[in-house]
Amino acid sequence: MSAHLLENLNPEQRAAVTLPHESALILAGAGSGKTRVLTTRMVWLIQTGQVSPLGVLAVTFTNKAAKEMMTRVSAMLPINTRGMWVGTFHGLANRLLRTHYREAGLPQSFQILDSQDQLSAIKRLMKAMNVDTEKYEPKKVQRFINGNKEAGLRARDVEAFDEYSMRMTELYEAYDAQCQREGVADFPELLLRAYELLYRNEPLRQHYQDRFRHILIDEFQDTNTLQYRWLKLFAGPRTALFAVGDDDQSIYAFRGANTANMAEFEREFAHGNVIKLEQNYRSHGNILTAANTLISQNAHRLGKNLWTAEGDGEPIRVFHAYSDQEEASFVVDEVRALNREGMNLSDMALLYRSNAQSRVLEHALFSASVPYRVYGGLRFFERQEVKHALAYLRLLTNPEDDGAFLRVVNFPARGIGARTLEQLADGAARAGASLWQAACTGGGKVAGFAKLIEDMKQVTADLSLAEAIDHVIEASGLADYYRADKEGADRLENLNELVNAAALFAEESEAGIYDDADASTPGGAESFRALDTFLAHAALEAGEHQAGAGHDALQLMTVHAAKGLEFHAVFITGLEEGLFPHEQSAYDSTRASARSGSESFRANEESGLEEERRLMYVAITRARRRLYLSHAQSRMLHGQTRYSLPSRFLDELPEQVLLNLNRRSEPVYPSGGYSAPAAPRSPQTGNDTGYKVGQSVVHAKFGTGIIIDFEGRGSDARVQVKFREVGSKWLALAYAKLSPA
Ligand code: ATP
Ligand code: MG
Repeated sequence: MSAHLLENLNPEQRAAVTLPHESALILAGAGSGKTRVLTTRMVWLIQTGQVSPLGVLAVTFTNKAAKEMMTRVSAMLPINTRGMWVGTFHGLANRLLRTHYREAGLPQSFQILDSQDQLSAIKRLMKAMNVDTEKYEPKKVQRFINGNKEAGLRARDVEAFDEYSMRMTELYEAYDAQCQREGVADFPELLLRAYELLYRNEPLRQHYQDRFRHILIDEFQDTNTLQYRWLKLFAGPRTALFAVGDDDQSIYAFRGANTANMAEFEREFAHGNVIKLEQNYRSHGNILTAANTLISQNAHRLGKNLWTAEGDGEPIRVFHAYSDQEEASFVVDEVRALNREGMNLSDMALLYRSNAQSRVLEHALFSASVPYRVYGGLRFFERQEVKHALAYLRLLTNPEDDGAFLRVVNFPARGIGARTLEQLADGAARAGASLWQAACTGGGKVAGFAKLIEDMKQVTADLSLAEAIDHVIEASGLADYYRADKEGADRLENLNELVNAAALFAEESEAGIYDDADASTPGGAESFRALDTFLAHAALEAGEHQAGAGHDALQLMTVHAAKGLEFHAVFITGLEEGLFPHEQSAYDSTRASARSGSESFRANEESGLEEERRLMYVAITRARRRLYLSHAQSRMLHGQTRYSLPSRFLDELPEQVLLNLNRRSEPVYPSGGYSAPAAPRSPQTGNDTGYKVGQSVVHAKFGTGIIIDFEGRGSDARVQVKFREVGSKWLALAYAKLSPA
């Protein structure tokens, strides 16, 4: 059976999979089979009896990847995958803390705050402390707290050097105290708390170090300092670490990812045991050539090249649109054509640099009735109605959670006003109690709310997870509220979807796909209660669960979210200067290192640009067969129309692999020195615009000019006009203030 397992691997991959019990670094480019090697090694180690399933710790980048890995392992091995430690950093930290909640100083049913929840908690704290939110912006406070946690620093470890940082540090400390009181933990807290737990608790550390003989890490290039330190705590003298990564795909420096970890890993663990994989199995030749050429322009690389045994394949299609709307309708047309030719929608991905770009694309897809699914953006578990339902559930399991209490105490409306709540909060603060405790001992409507929660608790005690959630949605009045709202149908549907998600979750955790009872750990909690596990899952998997998953739908996501994935056809949209590369990239890297000064600013600008280029490299290498690159001259973003030049990344690609799809010979830029092609193409016969090539026209703003070309028809028709003063422009006839001269 193991021979069969190794059959579909090339010699280097096979060598990596079957490495003896020692640490190694697999350094290889996109699509070279790193993830495949990691998964296969895990199966191989178990199958050949070198390690028990419980002796493996595997960290992947998304819950989805973790789930796939578990599914693969259970398909190949007739073993119980229950209790296996496969997950994301946050998922595994959560698991560790649930198992050892007492040692970690947390209540058994501590709740996880996503970043929205965290921000509201910070605002609430600042209000109670009377802090000027103009001077100390809550978002900056959040960034300060998270940045320090990710660097492994508690408030007491932060070196405050001026009044501002002293105040920030005070807020950090007060915020942590508030979380502790309420029994909640934010994302970076999970990791830091888990780290501290193992760091301080020698017997526990010993236990895990003895247990984990093999630690495997995917996407190692994107680990931050704390994550790396965390991993090292698990590694005992007999643990082999197997890290796979690609420095060219490091795209989280802005969040503290540290590629230096790779060099450090090589020195500390791998001792020069580095395997490179260079054959790419994902993409056709032209796509790979484009990716290789692009990334070769980064100065800071460990250096490697990729080749493919596949032919060149199709050229890369480039489309210049004059507006974001035209870009969107181009995408829709191409998607439909590919779909008609037999490609599944789910095999196509529409990528963009920033979430704000998705609106126009979604609108066009929706109008054309193309099913699509957005990953990230407004995530399922972050939708207002879903969060309301989750807040009720959180109160059922942990009534001290003031954030959850405030969210739903008067939603749907129960006549509990702001004044009542202020009094309640004052009372609670004086007594050093939670809002819940204050509500239970108080009277009136607030006590009525407490009674409602108590009743729900009783009824749901004997119900299955899905039934319990269904009951809460009804009994809380949420269902009625959205039924009565004429725009509530979608929200109601999402609440039903929450019940479905819970049912699916229950099924999957039966099958051992999620963190569950960890009987193998002495002193650990026997099992996590279903509701707590589900709530943790909802917080941790917020970006990944999608309503209606399973239907064939076009995949929309940011380039960041596409990491590790692959698609037959990929559209990379919005390739414009300022957008991709993003204009904030220089700023972001400046923030990462606190220095300023022109020297280091230039260096930061450069490294910001290199990170953007790596991001483009990630985007290109998602495509297997067909790749589209598009940009728009004008785009509505954040309520403003902006005009931009095409991305420099387009110029960095080798021309021989590109195919220009535009019928017109060149795009036209409003602000460049570009002048129209000398010989206008012949006028379209039978155009329905009432204008013809060669005709003189007047424009309200640009003055007089002459029509030199046409495109499209009906409401999509546009003309190219060569203006005397401002050069030539493409104008949409439907909007242009144009009249015959
Ligand atoms: P990324 O850097 O994007 O995460 P990766 O290095 O992890 O990529 P994989 O996703 O593991 O690459 O593999 C890319 C594709 O190539 C997958 O479809 C995988 O199944 C396929 N593949 C990998 N190795 C082989 C092989 N030896 N023979 C055939 N197909 C392979
Ligand atoms: Mg991978």
